Amino acid sequence: MQEKAFKFNYSFKNRRRNNNPRRRSSFNNQEEIQVSRYVKRSVEKVAKEEYIPKILFSDLEINSQLKNNILNRGYVKPTPIQDQAIPIISEGKDILGIANTGTGKTASFLIPLIEKALKNKNERVLIMAPTRELALQIIDDLKLFSKSLGIYSVACIGGLSIREQIFGLRRNPDFVIGTPGRLKDLVNRKCLNLSRFPNVVLDEVDRMLDMGFINDIKYLISLLPAKRQSLFFSATVPQEADNLIKGFLNNPIKISVKSGDTAENIDQDIVRVKDKSKKIESLHDLLIKDEFKKVLIFGRTKRGVEGLSRTLQERGFKAGSIHGDKSQSKRERVLKLFKTNQLQTLVATDVAARGLDIADITHVINYDLPATYNDYIHRIGRTGRANKTGKALTFV
Ligand code: AMP
Repeated sequence: MQEKAFKFNYSFKNRRRNNNPRRRSSFNNQEEIQVSRYVKRSVEKVAKEEYIPKILFSDLEINSQLKNNILNRGYVKPTPIQDQAIPIISEGKDILGIANTGTGKTASFLIPLIEKALKNKNERVLIMAPTRELALQIIDDLKLFSKSLGIYSVACIGGLSIREQIFGLRRNPDFVIGTPGRLKDLVNRKCLNLSRFPNVVLDEVDRMLDMGFINDIKYLISLLPAKRQSLFFSATVPQEADNLIKGFLNNPIKISVKSGDTAENIDQDIVRVKDKSKKIESLHDLLIKDEFKKVLIFGRTKRGVEGLSRTLQERGFKAGSIHGDKSQSKRERVLKLFKTNQLQTLVATDVAARGLDIADITHVINYDLPATYNDYIHRIGRTGRANKTGKALTFV
């Protein structure tokens, strides 16, 4: 009761404060501080020390075809997380990996786990990811790394035919990659027996928690064999993840490759729009510039995203959209068009764009402000990947 009264007084006081012109400037100052978080120069490449890995991919003692597949993808030097994680995972130890997006974490777990599955057919691998797009991306990576190796994998994600997934699971896949909701559905239908998966990866755990998957994840973990190798990857470790870690990992080795709170090689700036009705004009003026070659635009709502993409099309831009109301096949089609440079802009909601790995995105534009700073970091992490410099612009 007392707490309620206090809250009321507090907000009442705040309201009065903001209406007082003398106080207003301090309120605006607060706003300025918020805005200043969206402005940051990228670190000059020359000033950055080049990472020298302990070992090159060509020197790894692994299956020769697997090695060829890695080299054929153009990977020569391991990234810091790969350099650290691959030997530890190969020794069978658990990992708590704190890694930003774009650090190369996917290969850091796929390479040693493929090697493990090649040596012993019973070493099946389960990978959980927050979104369908990320799950499909991991499976695409897996297919490239395991070319001609007879590794069979199934994507268990919503939006695609569950019958095909059930059919795939009957073939005893070496790798199952899925989102928590669909995995749980398949377990409940008795089509997926998790006690046969002694290797588990939880990828982008903070995003999975944000999306409310905590209970599904706990349930799925409870069905895994007690004797297993568990790998946990997350950009941040929120409070909620702490409990999860205790129940999931056994004596983990912690690896952290986070570098500051935003990716260093992203130029960040704001675009001030005084009149809301002129917002689309400001966007238009940006998109006609030569350097805005491949642009990912974030909007807050599904309707807003769909509307903006239509408006851009009407204005003659090659634009597409992804959001939760679109069918999986439509999402995949539009992603492919964007990936292959047939679209200049992709307008997306946060959820739909989580974990996307699209090469050469020149600009990320926050047309609507992100809900949290964490969302901001994830949004801008879609550009400036694999050591390229990217640009992020935020409309304020
Ligand atoms: P990830 O953080 O796993 O999403 O990887 C980010 C991007 O970096 C992807 O496009 C990868 O294909 C690329 N990548 C990862 N590791 C390497 C490497 N060792 N050499 C070159 N590119 C890499």
